[in-house]
Amino acid sequence: MQDNIAVLREWIAGSDNIVFFGGAGVSTESGIPDFRSTDGLYRQEYKYPPETILSHTFFEQNPEEFFRFYRAKLIPDKSVQPNAAHRRLAELEREGKLRAVITQNIDGLHQAAGSRRVIELHGSIHRCRCAKCGRPCPEEAVNTGEGVPRCPCGGVLRPDVVLYEEPLAERDITDAVNFIRAADVLIVGGTSLAVYPAAGLLRYYEGHKLALVNTGATGYDESADLLIREKIGKVFSEV
Ligand code: NAD
Repeated sequence: MQDNIAVLREWIAGSDNIVFFGGAGVSTESGIPDFRSTDGLYRQEYKYPPETILSHTFFEQNPEEFFRFYRAKLIPDKSVQPNAAHRRLAELEREGKLRAVITQNIDGLHQAAGSRRVIELHGSIHRCRCAKCGRPCPEEAVNTGEGVPRCPCGGVLRPDVVLYEEPLAERDITDAVNFIRAADVLIVGGTSLAVYPAAGLLRYYEGHKLALVNTGATGYDESADLLIREKIGKVFSEV
């Protein structure tokens, strides 16, 4: 495994066109649970499975329950900080080596670490708006408190995150495809690659340096040119 990390270090040293594609596993070392690990949200018992609660239909029909789950499980504690992976990625961008971070995460930790070009495929808990009139609102109005938050227009306030059954923003898909297609080194990490269409974007990669850094197996393991089964924070602190 040490050899694989050394290979990744060499790829990074030799490129100024690196793109990172990540998911919930990037933030587990910051203390935010992912969905599919052994202690992830999918293994915990709720009245409904997380993908049901986090769907557009459920949000419309059971907003009370949606917000209870959302605030309890998706809003991290104020003490949560970026980890070594977030920090090193931000540093690689500053060094002119990393072109973009494409993330499925909604936690804003890449930006907190200093990354500037971040494509948030599934939106962000830090941007909120009215589901009816579209007017933006402060995140506190949605992410804190109890019950269903309301806009002065009467509509329900919501986080600007992409719920199941909702489409990704066209602009984000186009940008992500362009960065991935042009990338020399593509590092994919902390994602089960089970959520589509996000995971399908990897098919646009045309290079031969696809590094997959993930603690668990994924459906893309066989397509990787380099497979590292280690914690992503540890790996990025060594490259
Ligand atoms: P996922 O939960 O399906 O998969 C996470 C993957 O990361 C697993 O394969 C696991 O083995 C791996 N992993 C966990 N910790 C790791 C670590 N320290 N180092 C390396 N690998 C690690 O996550 P996903 O693929 O991103 O899909 C879940 C969906 O849930 C996404 O759409 C995402 O928006 C959302 N989500 C986001 C957050 C967040 O913003 N932090 C948290 C939970 C879920």
